[in-house]
Amino acid sequence: MKIVFLGPPGAGKGTQSERIVNKHGIAQLSTGDMLRAAVKAETPIGLKAKAVMEAGDLVSDEIVIGIVSDRIEAADCAKGFILDGFPRTVAQAAALDRMLEDKGMELDAIIELKVDQEVLITRIENRVREAQAAGQPVRKDDNPAAFKQRLDAYREQTAPVSSYYEETGRLQTVDGMASIDEVSKEIDQILAG
Ligand code: AMP
Repeated sequence: MKIVFLGPPGAGKGTQSERIVNKHGIAQLSTGDMLRAAVKAETPIGLKAKAVMEAGDLVSDEIVIGIVSDRIEAADCAKGFILDGFPRTVAQAAALDRMLEDKGMELDAIIELKVDQEVLITRIENRVREAQAAGQPVRKDDNPAAFKQRLDAYREQTAPVSSYYEETGRLQTVDGMASIDEVSKEIDQILAG
């Protein structure tokens, strides 16, 4: 099962991806997590991506396309994968189509979580509070200035990705304003169909 998960920052993609991964035994491929790991390990990619990520901007298409192309061939992707946070530009979406075709793979579902922009800020504030209360580190880009930039990047560069998939009738949308369980149920129905 190969799934692309779209939606703005704070829409709940991470939470829902985790549930799908646990249920279907597929790999969760979050380009954000992979890039954060690269930053932490101070790899050449991490060194390039660090400042861009902290400012809330997008890392170059070339870097993320390379990471995903390598990653989807790993052994833990044999049963499938869920792409969380990729593609984020139309160029990435087109590259993904080409890369899957080259590898003889096909996407089973492209799901977008739709959420009102106003609630996103509140959700991020809650995420910061919860991380702090649990003694976990807070993401460097979970501050008001970087978050605004991430929303702008989403609107300008990632929203067109939904149209890219919609034009070919491949996009399925889910109301991300519903409760976590309700959202999961809707996603399960899409994946069962
Ligand atoms: P996320 O964890 O998905 O919110 O991603 C955190 C940050 O990583 C983003 O704000 C970008 O700087 C970078 N990033 C993650 N995925 C991508 C992508 N597909 N294309 C470009 N930048 C990305």
